[in-house]
Amino acid sequence: MSTDLTKNKNSINKNEDYSNSQGVICQYDPFCVGFDKLLCQQPLNKEEFTALLDNNTIHLREQLAAAADKVRREHFGNKVYIRGLIEFSNYCKNDCYYCGIRRSNRSAERYRLSKEDILSCCREGYTLGFRTFVLQSGEDAYYTDERIADIVSSIHEAYPDCAITLSLGERSYESYKLLFDAGADRYLLRHETAVKKHYEQLHPAAMSFEHRMQCLQDLKDIGYQVGCGFMVGSPYQTHEMLANDLLFIQDFKPHMVGIGPFISHQDTPFASKKNGTLEDTLLLLSILRLMQPTLLLPATTALGTIHPKGREHGILAGANVVMPNLSPTKNRAKYSLYDNKICTGDESAQCIRCMDRRMEGIGYQVVIDRGDSPNRK
Ligand code: SAH
Repeated sequence: MSTDLTKNKNSINKNEDYSNSQGVICQYDPFCVGFDKLLCQQPLNKEEFTALLDNNTIHLREQLAAAADKVRREHFGNKVYIRGLIEFSNYCKNDCYYCGIRRSNRSAERYRLSKEDILSCCREGYTLGFRTFVLQSGEDAYYTDERIADIVSSIHEAYPDCAITLSLGERSYESYKLLFDAGADRYLLRHETAVKKHYEQLHPAAMSFEHRMQCLQDLKDIGYQVGCGFMVGSPYQTHEMLANDLLFIQDFKPHMVGIGPFISHQDTPFASKKNGTLEDTLLLLSILRLMQPTLLLPATTALGTIHPKGREHGILAGANVVMPNLSPTKNRAKYSLYDNKICTGDESAQCIRCMDRRMEGIGYQVVIDRGDSPNRK
């Protein structure tokens, strides 16, 4: 976009008027400057990100979604990538205050899938057109490096044309490296919040903000396509904290970013906390797409849970990935991170057909493709 702003990008300061991308003369205003910088793909500062979040109107969302859609189409056309999500264990040693499968939740009925169960999910997924399998679990010590590496290498041998994504939480550098060498391509580890004090409000003292951030750096150094992310509207979160999340992402440059609204779970300390909103999540999806045009950005199940058309709205705001569930139907309800999670009673084949229809309905197409990051090493 050719604007006075791009020409004068170094000359905006708080005491001068400037001409924005519509040619309108503005007084310095972090909202206007932030908006223009996003459209010109320039980095924003904390004040500018915060001003955008403070002024989340339908008008702003529509403008940013249109711009986000345009840059997404330049890189991905109308393609939507699918990932087959296999939630293989809900045992967890951690006690995150927001999460339904936290260790202290005695009402959670625990389960583990065997290697054979996991491979049979992959077999079904492959037939249905999935070319990425996402293995997600709580932090379950049963799955030692040897056990996980064996599962990863078996999937890799059986489906050499598929990508393997892991989402197993925090492990050592050596463990991540072993799993990468066994054939894993990608790793999802949401940072949850970029503000240490906020991290400590969401997690017990046994968990460390620094360690989580170190894990993300290790994953990147090893060569994984890496996904970070956060919940929108998590307890105690402010717009300034979200601005810090965006600054962290701007600097870290992940290949993927997973965001979805916080949704309370009845058996957690956050049972009575307010849920995040569709509107905030959509605005953030558009901002992320404009910040990093080639980002792999899912419209998450949590977004589909807070609104019946949440995932469709997410795609229209700039997301380009959906993650239908491939877990055996009998286990799905037990992987209960938050209340009222959708699709827990469906067969995988139903899920993918439903997703095809939903995406077609808004002019997008689910494709049979690994859907790698254009920026992978
Ligand atoms: N144990 C793995 C996977 C965690 S579950 C790990 O630590 O990465 C995946 C994500 O679900 C979490 O990172 C968190 O951001 C999200 N999540 C957990 N509880 C949630 C809730 N109540 N509402 C919305 N999202 C939640």
